[in-house]
Amino acid sequence: MNQKTLVLIKPDGLVKSLTGNILMRLSESKLEIVAAKILRVNKELAEEHYKHMEDKPFFKELIRYIQGELHGRRKVMAMVYWGEDALTKVRELAGSTNPEEADVTSIRGSFGRITTKGIYENVLHTSSDAKEAEREIKLWFEPDEIIVDLYPTKTVSMETQKKRVWA
Ligand code: GDP
Ligand code: MG
Repeated sequence: MNQKTLVLIKPDGLVKSLTGNILMRLSESKLEIVAAKILRVNKELAEEHYKHMEDKPFFKELIRYIQGELHGRRKVMAMVYWGEDALTKVRELAGSTNPEEADVTSIRGSFGRITTKGIYENVLHTSSDAKEAEREIKLWFEPDEIIVDLYPTKTVSMETQKKRVWA
């Protein structure tokens, strides 16, 4: 079945120069990248993305982690992978959440670690099911940033909206 999934290369992945390694591993899936960007993650986006983790004791650190505050690298690379069994394929290549328990040949098993403060630095995020993927893709991307129509859209006029353009 054709599926889509959000993939984020987290700040530890970027600071360790793992972008190429991660993309190479994910390319084994033969899936298509249909959207990609580098962005700074503000607190609102971080908290919305991880809102299901709100009650966890590590929530505050998790929000600082995804914002890059623990790595002095305030950016994340966000992508949408699309194709046959995208969710399962990418989660399998990523490996388990806990990088110490992840299969050693998986991305998290190869490059992740648990810090002495107990943070799971697991280098990438990937959606766990179709419902979560839809919520996350719509949170991280505008329809026009994705080269295929993944979900229904509508057109609204926004005459009052200001936009920065090249000078
Ligand atoms: P994922 O879908 O595999 O990323 O895992 P979850 O959705 O369960 O958790 C989201 C993120 O929270 C994980 O990727 C980790 O960064 C972090 N996390 C999850 N469980 C733990 C935990 O037990 N301890 C710590 N420190 N972080 C965790
Ligand atoms: Mg998850």
